[in-house]
Amino acid sequence: MNKIILKNQHTALQELVENPVFKLISDASAKLNIESYVIGGFVRDFFLNRPCKDIDIVCNGSGIELAEEVAKRIGKNTKVTVFKNFGTAMLNYNDFEVEFVGARKESYQRGSRKPIVEDGTLEDDQNRRDFTINAMALSLQTATYGALIDPFNGIGDLQKKVLKTPLNPDITYSDDPLRMMRAIRFSTQLNFNIDKSSLNSITKNKERIKIVSQERIIDELNKIILAKQPSIGFKLLFDTGLLAIIFPEMDNLKGIEIKYGKGHKDNFYHTIEVLDNIALKTDNLWLRWAAILHDIAKPATKRFDNEVGWTFHGHEDKGARMVPAVFKKLKLPLDNKMKYVQKLVLLHLRPIALVKETVSDSAVRRLLFEAGEDIDDLMTLCSADITSKNPEKVKKYLANFEMVKQKLKEVEEKDQLRNWQPPISGELIMETFNLKPCREIGKIKDAIREAILEGDIENNYEAAYQFMLKKGKELGLEKTNNKQP
Ligand code: ATP
Ligand code: MG
Repeated sequence: MNKIILKNQHTALQELVENPVFKLISDASAKLNIESYVIGGFVRDFFLNRPCKDIDIVCNGSGIELAEEVAKRIGKNTKVTVFKNFGTAMLNYNDFEVEFVGARKESYQRGSRKPIVEDGTLEDDQNRRDFTINAMALSLQTATYGALIDPFNGIGDLQKKVLKTPLNPDITYSDDPLRMMRAIRFSTQLNFNIDKSSLNSITKNKERIKIVSQERIIDELNKIILAKQPSIGFKLLFDTGLLAIIFPEMDNLKGIEIKYGKGHKDNFYHTIEVLDNIALKTDNLWLRWAAILHDIAKPATKRFDNEVGWTFHGHEDKGARMVPAVFKKLKLPLDNKMKYVQKLVLLHLRPIALVKETVSDSAVRRLLFEAGEDIDDLMTLCSADITSKNPEKVKKYLANFEMVKQKLKEVEEKDQLRNWQPPISGELIMETFNLKPCREIGKIKDAIREAILEGDIENNYEAAYQFMLKKGKELGLEKTNNKQP
């Protein structure tokens, strides 16, 4: 593992002094005669050199009053957003979103991850934090400006690249089980290890995840999926047993069955490998979800055939049909993003089928027509789907795949089917044959589309118009309108 380079405290102090937002908060605190500190994610990311636009300020007084004093100093009608219920306030300054809160002490009841909150000291506030690297604070007091208050050696854990809870992990995870997801999410984003006793506690407390709302779970899961190497998180979710609870369909992909000496690949490992592959090519969350779900129906369609071994016939079709239920359960959006994922799952085998030398233009046209504007994303998914332990094999497949891309390009340039719109409208058909809405109109439209996809006629208005007249005649319709619009 490569060694991590942290900013030293001296540089940190310099940068703090240079950042006017901290000076303003420091002055406002002095005026109100309270102490304030930068705390949590900002401090962690600051030492890791990760850009961070959210600043959390904790003070030993009213966060709301402090925010208002700071806003007054910024001037320019700076707006303070107050969340009375939480006792917090927020304002924007330059690019930063700054949140203010009074230091607090928390205690938990078994049935809820929402704590009972009372006023506390900075120490209390640091004790309630989830990880040592998230519990560091920087002083904004004039006398100690920029000093690091790090009671749990968060800096040491940043150096060791380890996630550890400040207090007993069993209590920390059981109190607020969302922290289990956060541990795995930070481990994935930062490429940090989770401390062994923490990992044991997560496994032990996994059932507690059930008291966390699905919205919070999916938030963390999506952050894992958007990380550079999402497989890190999915392996941890699997190993701790959390995946089986929060996403059993994916957990189900795990395992290899062997019959008469014939096995199949482990579809869980295959899927997370595809996900890592696609993460190198795109930050589109939904394309990454398509990678996660592309083989989701493999367990449900698995059969053993004495001649060919294991088969998963129709898994793309069944998988696409599973997508809405998975989205609904996970509380992912049930809109066109779901439709997009569904389409990619359905079509994910089609480009590979075009690898054959003898493939007809019409097969290529049909794929272009069905994928529409998502054809490039489908190709990205398919090339990510090429995984094998044998690098020679991967190389060969990828080379074949380039040929498919070339074919697609040629046919596309010729026929322009990407955002295909029927060249003949239903209105024109009705006008031409003097029809009221009826089944014949749909029949003619379908026939025109088929003729274009089969390559019987060209994809343009004139050819389609002539074809419509011919088709109308076959259906016994009479042309009554001689005007050609
Ligand atoms: P990011 O913003 O990248 O998600 P972050 O660490 O800033 O990371 P936030 O959710 O913004 O995470 O929370 C800010 C800080 O609040 C954290 O650094 C941590 O100290 C504390 N915190 C947040 N959620 C929890 C929690 N569930 N339990 C304990 N402390 C938490
Ligand atoms: Mg944050």
